[in-house]
Amino acid sequence: MRTAKGQRATGLRICGIRTVWDTVGDGEFFCPGCGGDRNYQRLTGRHRLTVLGLPLLNRGSAGPVVECVACRAHFATDTLDRPTTTRFSAMLREAVHTVTLAVLAAGGTTSRTVLETAAGIVRDAGLDDCTQEQLFTIVEVLAADTGPGGTAGPAAEACGAALAIELHEVLKPLAPHLAVAGREGVLLRGARIALADGPYSQAEREVLTMVGGALQLCPADTAELLAAAARTPS
Ligand SMILES: [Zn+2]
Repeated sequence: MRTAKGQRATGLRICGIRTVWDTVGDGEFFCPGCGGDRNYQRLTGRHRLTVLGLPLLNRGSAGPVVECVACRAHFATDTLDRPTTTRFSAMLREAVHTVTLAVLAAGGTTSRTVLETAAGIVRDAGLDDCTQEQLFTIVEVLAADTGPGGTAGPAAEACGAALAIELHEVLKPLAPHLAVAGREGVLLRGARIALADGPYSQAEREVLTMVGGALQLCPADTAELLAAAARTPS
């Protein structure tokens, strides 16, 4: 337990409010104070009125707050909503991997050039041991898994219902933490894979439009980016 004192003089007595903090949890977070992944303690406080340093009355509760173990600064608990740098990198790697699989599932895995481009993009994103064979196998397994008679929309059918759900689950939590340029970058990597064997197929276009939506890019921007990528030789 630690205390923080705010004291004021009233007449001859020294009165103050002292906050007594209790630790109610801990973990790792991104500290906006000292700028990095740090351990934190979650604290709740009780205000006590003190006279001459002696706690006399309970004056309500304080917090909860998050205290950085490194710099000791206090933050509102919504600071914990932001992923740590480590977690963020993992989310980004996973996003690129999932987009890659979705585009491959829509465009077919028969082209060597497409698989080569795809594996290169996934490795660049940080999954160093990704191979063409690995991507090929995952897409085949997912395609077999989906089976006929799905009731999902055309875009979902194009990349498999399971992948459509996966796309939203992976991209949605990432989107708020990524600047527009970063979100566009994820979409454009998908576009590069789709374009590796020529213009977008209808299915590839649908999947990439779905990716743009899951990344919270507006439909017009997504369409414009996809068109611009198609015009630019890679
Ligand atoms: Zn800190």
